[in-house]
Amino acid sequence: MLNHGRRRLERKKSGYGSFPKEIFHKNAKINKKSTPLLECTECGKKQYAKSYRVKRLELQEV
Ligand SMILES: [Zn+2]
Repeated sequence: MLNHGRRRLERKKSGYGSFPKEIFHKNAKINKKSTPLLECTECGKKQYAKSYRVKRLELQEV
């Protein structure tokens, strides 16, 4: 006969494979940082735009 604390621990451990609580498996960051390389059409100078965490990146001609 197990004592009460041991019984409670055994019941707790039964759920998630010897671990009392569910293990959190989600990534901390969902969206990747995107850094578009912008090139000047006149002199050909390249420059990286400021990077942001976005789901979808869309470039538009101004
Ligand atoms: Zn230029």
